[in-house]
Amino acid sequence: MSKKFQAMRGTRDILPGEVEKWQTVEKVAAMISERYGYREIRTPHFEATDLFARGVGETTDVVQKEMYTFPDRKGRSLTLRPEGTAGVVRAVIEAGLAKPDRLHKLWYWGPMFRYDRPQAGRYRQFYQWGAEVIGTANPWADVEIIVLLAEYLEELGLTDLVIKLNSVGDATCRPIYQKKVREALASRRDELCPDCRERLEKNPLRVLDCKVPGCREIVKGVPSVLDSLCEDCREHLDEVKKGLDASGLTYEMDPGLVRGLDYYTRTAFEIHHGKLGAQSAVGGGGRYDGLFKILGGPEVPAVGFSMGVERVLIALQEEGRDVFHQTPLVYLARGANLSDEAFRLARELRRRFAIQLEYAEKSLGAQLRQADRLGATAVLILGEDEMAAGEITVKDLKSGDQRRMPRADLQDELARLLSEPAASRSHT
Ligand code: AMP
Repeated sequence: MSKKFQAMRGTRDILPGEVEKWQTVEKVAAMISERYGYREIRTPHFEATDLFARGVGETTDVVQKEMYTFPDRKGRSLTLRPEGTAGVVRAVIEAGLAKPDRLHKLWYWGPMFRYDRPQAGRYRQFYQWGAEVIGTANPWADVEIIVLLAEYLEELGLTDLVIKLNSVGDATCRPIYQKKVREALASRRDELCPDCRERLEKNPLRVLDCKVPGCREIVKGVPSVLDSLCEDCREHLDEVKKGLDASGLTYEMDPGLVRGLDYYTRTAFEIHHGKLGAQSAVGGGGRYDGLFKILGGPEVPAVGFSMGVERVLIALQEEGRDVFHQTPLVYLARGANLSDEAFRLARELRRRFAIQLEYAEKSLGAQLRQADRLGATAVLILGEDEMAAGEITVKDLKSGDQRRMPRADLQDELARLLSEPAASRSHT
């Protein structure tokens, strides 16, 4: 027997039936991005390994443990992108668009790859929607980024959401805070997990978001970053908070929120969903004023977010929100020897409607059963009688009503039948 293949661990197929949900959440992301004045950018799915090592940070779990890295045939080290921002920043620099006063508002959508232990809400290939405002340090850009993500989740109908906000300081105040963290934890170093002992040397803020219970307990005694912010960072944070208040969003301050990536400055935020269990973050982001310089560009401030699409779909399911949208299907049934005419009619109708018909000739009964199985909204019947009279029978499968009419009236009748509201929200 020949070998059976399976999708690789941590990857999944999205089959018809589920794919319509994906299409809807992507369509809404594109629509809202555009409403907020963002333009789409598409970057390659793999990049030079060094881009992520530098851009994401050598000390992060993503770089140290989770990257899909391989040599290509010429021995170059390549990596499947674990996140979107580094590639976007590289692309903006490469295109010569990174200029201190030039604003770019960009969004992206696509697969990301991380070699992590798969579990509910965590995959090795997963999808992200992300947005970046490049070229301004203005706190209103931070506000807009948070509002954009919140608006999207609300538009989809999610309610069980919590926005968490923090500031991780900047090049002025962060080193001072890092020193404080080191000092506060020095005497308990041996009680920390092995990862945190290393973090304490290289990137002490990351100890604060360690998930190991023992470490979580120990970091409770560490002074809050919010008490160590310099004047500029404090003002920036106050403006972001004012902007969120003015936008009608509620949020919680969370001084323990330090994102795993090194290039973040000032604003850090996450949006959590109450029914996602251990993997409760649907998305997050923050300001990364240092990244352009690290990646060889000029100094350009920027802020952005990324959101996990699978988690949004799980959250929608948990809240019983159905964003499923399938183009209503019309099934064209035909009598014997009418294939030429049926395929000609189908071609004409397919300019406006989704039409399904059989390749082979089948009995009317078999065709009607198939229409039912496909979940068609309406059936058209083109029999010998109809053919001779220049007519067609239209059956509404929801109401069961059936009517014969001149072929000339068919398109108007279908438009009427199919336009009836099928779901509760405008985009579904
Ligand atoms: P991060 O860049 O790690 O902050 O990820 C941003 C968002 O992507 C998270 O809030 C999750 O919703 C999602 N995400 C991250 N890693 C995974 C994964 N392995 N599987 C599914 N979703 C993920």
